[in-house]
Amino acid sequence: MESTLCIIKPDAVKNGHVEDINKKIEESGIEIIKSKRLTLKKYIAEEFYAEHSERPFYPELVDFMTSGDCVIQILQGDDVVKRYRELMGATNPAEAVEGTLRQLFASSLGENAVHGSDSKQSAEREIAIMNNLF
Ligand code: ATP
Ligand code: MG
Repeated sequence: MESTLCIIKPDAVKNGHVEDINKKIEESGIEIIKSKRLTLKKYIAEEFYAEHSERPFYPELVDFMTSGDCVIQILQGDDVVKRYRELMGATNPAEAVEGTLRQLFASSLGENAVHGSDSKQSAEREIAIMNNLF
């Protein structure tokens, strides 16, 4: 059994999509084993997205991720890292396949509704960062 980190981002929380997103996750056979709504502290958002620290969009990304409540979740299931990334859809919602979370609930590349770990190694790192917030 594998775990991955999911974040419902501030745009989706503000727009009232939390229940609909979690319904889609559960309908896909993925289990939500931990869930907490909170506003991320800036230093946590910075550490979380450290891989992007040299990119031009990094300050905007950190500002957005700390702009309101997120829902931080740990998901569990067979092959869940890959399966949840597929359910999320492409980073840019304009390119996301129909029926994916980003196609359904995201409005832009910067404000794209959900996060999901992109590998088992990332999942371990991200769960370690967030685990003490639950
Ligand atoms: P996430 O890590 O949030 O699940 P991802 O793995 O699909 O998304 P990354 O390449 O890790 O995509 O980018 C992290 C986040 O940074 C994206 O979700 C998006 O909100 C933002 N981002 C990525 N590229 C750009 C860009 N060119 N302009 C603005 N924002 C961007
Ligand atoms: Mg990523």
